[in-house]
Amino acid sequence: MSLCFEAPITIVGHGLAGSLLAWTLLEQGKTLRIFAGDKPSASRVAAGLINPVTGQRFVLADNTPEMLTYASKFYQGIESRLNIQCFHEKPMFRLFNSQKEQGNCKKRLKNEKYDDFLDNTSPPKSLLAEHGGIIQNHTAWLDTNTLLDALHTYFKQQNIITYRNFEAENVEQNIIYCEGVHMMFNPLFSWLPLQPAHGEIVTCDSKQTLPSTIINKGKWLLPISQNTCRIGATFDTKITTPTLLESSKKQLLAFAEGVFSKKHDFIVVEHQAGIRPTTLDKQPFIGTHPKYSNIHIFNGFGSRGSLMIPWYANQLCNHNIPAKANISRYDGLAAAMESNNK
Ligand SMILES: Cc1cc2nc3c(=O)[nH]c(=O)nc-3n(C[C@H](O)[C@H](O)[C@H](O)COP(=O)(O)OP(=O)(O)OC[C@H]3O[C@@H](n4cnc5c(N)ncnc54)[C@H](O)[C@@H]3O)c2cc1C
Repeated sequence: MSLCFEAPITIVGHGLAGSLLAWTLLEQGKTLRIFAGDKPSASRVAAGLINPVTGQRFVLADNTPEMLTYASKFYQGIESRLNIQCFHEKPMFRLFNSQKEQGNCKKRLKNEKYDDFLDNTSPPKSLLAEHGGIIQNHTAWLDTNTLLDALHTYFKQQNIITYRNFEAENVEQNIIYCEGVHMMFNPLFSWLPLQPAHGEIVTCDSKQTLPSTIINKGKWLLPISQNTCRIGATFDTKITTPTLLESSKKQLLAFAEGVFSKKHDFIVVEHQAGIRPTTLDKQPFIGTHPKYSNIHIFNGFGSRGSLMIPWYANQLCNHNIPAKANISRYDGLAAAMESNNK
């Protein structure tokens, strides 16, 4: 990465990626300007769940524990500096969807790498758990709106934020593009294999008292107070603009009602949609444009921005981008696109 930290840096985008990268660079004493456009932001919709062990096979990726430790300290540091609360540790009840899933989890329980993350406790009777379930530890949720509002107030006080969509005027500028899914309209990076994934979430009031843990059964229910929760999320790679579908709302409510053994009444107070900047190989897009050494990208955090962005921002600032996340893995694709365009 040939990012020149001595010249002023232009950061394009003020979602989690742009804002947390800006915070990290400012902590290192760098000079920067953030362009905050008015295009929809996934970070403003996201539930901010942080879940180290994921999927039907209960995968704990190799560097996840390190990312998790880094993210908790990072968010707690911002909390105390800006006097906010945005990082909420909360255990998760994972209900198995099938016997197969239960079997996958049992295998993981024999592996000591998972000792700290999975707790073989049966679900309470208040939950319908036909195939059983397990407690997941070191899970949390990030209140992305509280965090981003506080960061933007701070950036405004520093006089480093410009509220408009950025268009490159000066090719000599040192630019890091953090445009989320809008990168697909940026000719400098639209050749990278993004696979946007539409998602919807509902926020609900519940007449009945909610459990204190997150509940996850593929979809999830996140209690944010005794009687308020967020329920999500749908995942659809065919829809490319945020769209509120009545069928999704119904699907999410049916899921939430189905996890309790006694009837729960949910009243929808908000229904939101956004597009996750997911990538074809599930790894972020970080690095320098193959042709322009002053143009960079920090993007592609998919469904896991809250966990990954703090750690990757630090890696970028220390010129240490892991090969699996570096866009140089697509140099062949860039060269092919270039020769096709000739
Ligand atoms: C329904 C849903 C649920 C999710 N749940 C979770 C979850 O539980 N946990 C989790 O970790 N992640 C979750 N995510 C994913 C999470 O939202 C992303 O990983 C993360 O927020 C991506 O941040 P970003 O800054 O890259 O993109 P965005 O938040 O989309 O930000 C991009 C920003 O760039 C700005 N921009 C774009 N182009 C320009 C331009 N030319 N000039 C100026 N500004 C520009 C846009 O206005 C926008 O503000 C969810 C996403 C969705 C949609």
